[in-house]
Amino acid sequence: MLDEGVIKYEGVWERGEPLSEEVLGGLMLWRDRLYGLGLIGAYENGIGFGNVSQRLGDGDGFVISGTQTGHLPHLEANQYTRVCEFDLGANRLRCCGPVQASSESLTHGAIYQRCPEVRGIFHVHHGQFWRRLLHRVPTTGAEVPYGTPQMAEEMFRLFEEEHLAQVRILAMAGHEDGVISFGESLDEAGAVLLRWFKG
Ligand SMILES: [Zn+2]
Repeated sequence: MLDEGVIKYEGVWERGEPLSEEVLGGLMLWRDRLYGLGLIGAYENGIGFGNVSQRLGDGDGFVISGTQTGHLPHLEANQYTRVCEFDLGANRLRCCGPVQASSESLTHGAIYQRCPEVRGIFHVHHGQFWRRLLHRVPTTGAEVPYGTPQMAEEMFRLFEEEHLAQVRILAMAGHEDGVISFGESLDEAGAVLLRWFKG
């Protein structure tokens, strides 16, 4: 079942100003680059996929691309928003910015909360790539849907049991085509992703 793009978290969205391009520059470059590679985009039914995020400061807050932006070749600064607070168990978040946060924000949040050193996360979709990665890299269970507290729990299991903190890439068996990479910088998250994508 394809249920990409449906927001399952309970969210409070406070409309606010966009972050500056100075802050967003690196994230914007990577996001558009991933679009160019077909790793972010839209399915034939028009539903967009793929999202990128970057930790802000020292806390667990982060900036992420807005919901339903995958189909756009280029995102402007006002298509990113800040996730200021989140509660994984309650599947709840508060975001502040010009748009509502991606439906997959809490999956990003789970990684930021677990790994203080992680500063960038990319979530992409690509059928062929995904099939190649399934069970070759840490893989979430087929019964675990995206955007749920179970997915956050499943991430934690991969950190415990499958060395996810070292491998820094995972496939989501229960979220068709879905792959996530992360790193201590955006460039590292991108390098990990592209090494496997081209490999
Ligand atoms: Zn996805």
